[in-house]
This record gives sequence, C-alpha cells and structure tokens, in this order.
Amino acid sequence: MSVFSTVEMAPRDPILGQSEQFNLDTRPVKANLGVGVYFDDAGRLPLLACVQAAEKAMLSAPSTRGYLPIDGIAAYDNAVKALVFGADSEPVQSARVATVQAIGGTGGLKIGADFLKKLSPDAKVLISDPSWENHRALFSGAGFTVDSYAYYDAEKRDLNFDAMLASLNAAAAGSIVVLHACCHNPTGYDISPGQWDQVIAVIEARGLTPFLDMAYQGFGHGIAEDGAVIGKFVAAGLNLLVSTSFSKSFSLYGERVGGLSVLCTDKEQASRVLSQLKVVIRTNYSNPPTHGAAVVAAVLNDPELRALWERELAQMRLRIKAMRQQLVAGLKAAGVRQDMDFINRQIGMFSYSGLSRAQMLRLRNEFGVYGTDTGRMCVAALNPQNLAHVCQAIAQVLE
Ligand code: PLP
Repeated sequence: MSVFSTVEMAPRDPILGQSEQFNLDTRPVKANLGVGVYFDDAGRLPLLACVQAAEKAMLSAPSTRGYLPIDGIAAYDNAVKALVFGADSEPVQSARVATVQAIGGTGGLKIGADFLKKLSPDAKVLISDPSWENHRALFSGAGFTVDSYAYYDAEKRDLNFDAMLASLNAAAAGSIVVLHACCHNPTGYDISPGQWDQVIAVIEARGLTPFLDMAYQGFGHGIAEDGAVIGKFVAAGLNLLVSTSFSKSFSLYGERVGGLSVLCTDKEQASRVLSQLKVVIRTNYSNPPTHGAAVVAAVLNDPELRALWERELAQMRLRIKAMRQQLVAGLKAAGVRQDMDFINRQIGMFSYSGLSRAQMLRLRNEFGVYGTDTGRMCVAALNPQNLAHVCQAIAQVLE
C-alpha cells in the first residue's frame, strides 16, 4: 500500500479554477471579472513604465545573484517601512519597526501568522465576514482557530458598522484581528476615518492585536490617504502588524513582492521581534528572491521613478473609478430599475454586486461574464470593449 493512498483530493481554488474555465470559453464576447487583477483599457495586464525603466538600468549593470539576507534587501525593507509609516514618522525615526521582505502579501501574512502562533498559541484570529478567501485558510493553516467579525449586511447591501463594533467588543482579550487597511476585498466597502477611530478604541480597550492587510495601498484614495489609517494606530500607541503587497500597485503579481512590518514599543523590542521573524523565514524558505524586490526598491528609492510610479498608480486608480461610474450609468441605460449607485460608494478593485449565486451562474453560463459565486466582480477588469456586454448581461439576470 502506498503511503499516499489515503490522500484526498483537495477542492480546486474557486477563482483560479474559474479562470481556467474562462480561458476554455470560446464565446467571442466574454469577460473575466473573477480574478483580482488590474487590466488596462485594452484588457491587458500592464507592465508599468517605472518597472521597465528600473529593469533597463539593472540590465545595463548586471548583478550577481547571491543569497539575500534572511530579511531581504535592506534598501527594500527601508522603502517599505517609509511607505507604510512615513519616512519621517516617529516609529521609523526611532527604529521601532521590524520589517522583512516577504513573498507577496500572502507571504507577509504567513510570516506574521507563524510568528504570532509561537507567541500566543491560544489566541483566536478574527477575520471580517466576508473576507479575502485565503485569510481563513492561511490563519487556520498556521494553527489558529479562526472566527469572524460582522462587516457586511447583504440585505442592505452596505457595511454593518454597528455589528462590526459589537463583534469586536465581544472578542476575547488577546484575539488577533485581521483588518483590511483599505479597498476591502471582497465587498469594496471601507470604514470611514471616524469609524477607524472607534475600531481602534475598541482594540485598545479589549487588548486585541491588530494585523492590517494592506494589499491595495494607492488603489483607494491615494498612497498617503490609504496609508493614513496606520498613523491612527501609531497615535493610539498600539503595537501592530502590517502586511504589504506590491502585486497590484506595481502590477508585479508573479514576482511575489511583499513585506511584513511589526510596530514595536521600542528599538530593542523591534530587534528581538526581527530576530524571531528571521527564524520563521529561515525555517520556511531560508531567504527571499532577488528580482522583484530589487525593482521595487529601485523605483521607490529614486525620486524620478517614484514620481512616475505614483502617476501610473493614480492612472490605475482613476480608471477603476471611471469604470465604476460607467458601470452604474450603463446598468441604468440597459434598463436596470433598481438603484445601483452603491457601486460608486465602493472602492478599490472589487464590487460586491449583491447578485445571488443563481444570478452569477446565469451570468457565467448564458453570457460568459465570470464573477465569483458570492457576487464579487472585479471592476478593474472592465473596459470599453466589454462594458456594454456586462451591463446587458446583468440587466437580463436582474429582470
Ligand atoms: N490580501 C488581500 C486582501 C488580497 O486581496 C490579496 C490578493 O488578492 C492578498 C492579500 C495577496 O496578495 P499577494 O498576491 O501579494 O500575495
């Protein structure tokens, strides 16, 4: 008998499985709004000019590929720290942030989860209901019991902030709360600055550990605007974990560029935390890869390239916003009578459309419009070529 004979088939990843189905779909007009990827107006994955410029410079001065330090490229880690907290911020100035390079935002979350599990083995993890589908699996995989806090009211198609606060107020002291820093995935609803203040007050009062997932900095209102929430945690004097992803903001999905920053009480504590993060990394994959982080560091640390990146990121952000507005107008023009204005109140790459599973299946089967069964659609995959078809299709299933 084989040692593997009892291995069960794991379920297929729902979103990636759907992309395979989409690629096999031979209908001439179709739209893949399932996967969380930004496409440009021509439906192409962008290769940013700032990335190309950095790579060109790197090619003209080829570098060797030795092992990186366990915590990654120092210039990269410093750039992440500056982006997340502000270069002149007190935590960066007083060296109380421990930052490591990570394999994408997912890697940052996983390093943080493994670190926290060793530190607080009995703590519960709370994620939003609903949340990015990998949060539950990732924190359960790290050994935690994962519960959720209320976030979305499906009936009202809106945030349920009172219920969110009530859930957090009922959390056991020491629980780890995973919060979307901006551009909530999947709902597209963010809490307001004033609501963040209330959440932070509860986190403080209940002794919870905040873990911010910042996968979309710059996709909401702007780099500084989206990052402002971090300053609120700093001002409250809290310890904090933040995972960063450059997958979307640099369109570097496959390079796996991310980070984890841990805001500590002082410099000495930060050096102890850093030493433990390095143990987690060393025993998982030893040290991170070179290329993607070198590109991001080159862009973030060069004033001209950085300005170019900021312009390109703003273009992506504004294109998504325009697509939202055109989607709402297009739905109206296609005869949808219900108020779809809530789509304009959502932010980031996604819209929780409020469509049922049955309606989403009809969209896929009858019209080749692929979103998730939960009704999530990637607005960043809409373009002038597929918009009218998507609007017509939604209008038909809403009839
Ligand atoms: N966190 C959230 C909320 C996400 O939506 C994503 C990607 O879709 C990630 C983390 C993971 O990012 P990465 O691809 O950099 O691992």
